[in-house]
Amino acid sequence: MKLLHVSDLHFRPHWFEWVAKEACHYDAVCIAGDLLDMFGTHETGMRDQAAWVRTWIRGFSGRLFVCSGNHDWWDSKGVVDNDAHGGWLDKMGSNQVTVDGQGAVIGGYHIFCHPFRFPACWPQAPSGKWILLHHAPPAYAGTGVTGSTGKDQGCRELAAAIIGSPRPPWLILSGHIHKPKSWRGRHGASWSFNPTFDAEAPWPNHITIDTESGVVTWITSREGTWPVRVL
Ligand SMILES: [Zn+2]
Repeated sequence: MKLLHVSDLHFRPHWFEWVAKEACHYDAVCIAGDLLDMFGTHETGMRDQAAWVRTWIRGFSGRLFVCSGNHDWWDSKGVVDNDAHGGWLDKMGSNQVTVDGQGAVIGGYHIFCHPFRFPACWPQAPSGKWILLHHAPPAYAGTGVTGSTGKDQGCRELAAAIIGSPRPPWLILSGHIHKPKSWRGRHGASWSFNPTFDAEAPWPNHITIDTESGVVTWITSREGTWPVRVL
């Protein structure tokens, strides 16, 4: 099975269009959170961004796995708003689109989408190799270490859950830290991957995963192409 892993698209329509165009080369596309952008770098408000991405998901032809990130989440502030708290993404679940809190099997592998701000747990995890979409990378893997400061901003809760679990994920597909020390790392028995973020790039930095050969490849316009074997 071939997977395309992207993250932190941050409401860049041309990156979404690139992902839609590439999807036919893969069995599934995994988006590891931060589809929207809350920093106001765009004229478009959060609710309109969510509406645009929902339309994009509806028009997507292929198999999609999506988990939410911190930018995909806003508070309802006490008013009725079923798009708040990641609700806009929850609504998009279907046979072809697996969203927060859901898992599905494809190509013999269980893939689970972890909702942002939820505890790290995977009750449905099978005993074999499986794949976790989790916006923040685990601590101690290097993929959550900010390159410029050396500070590990990876998720300690996830790191602890990996060590404590009898069925830890084989691969953890993340994003969140835009310029990490490394695009790939390990914690316990799990591999961690972060496609990284290059705001000026014509297409998003991304990772391809071939589960048969075990080759995982980081592809960027600025840093080139880097493979690693994970079997
Ligand atoms: Zn981000």
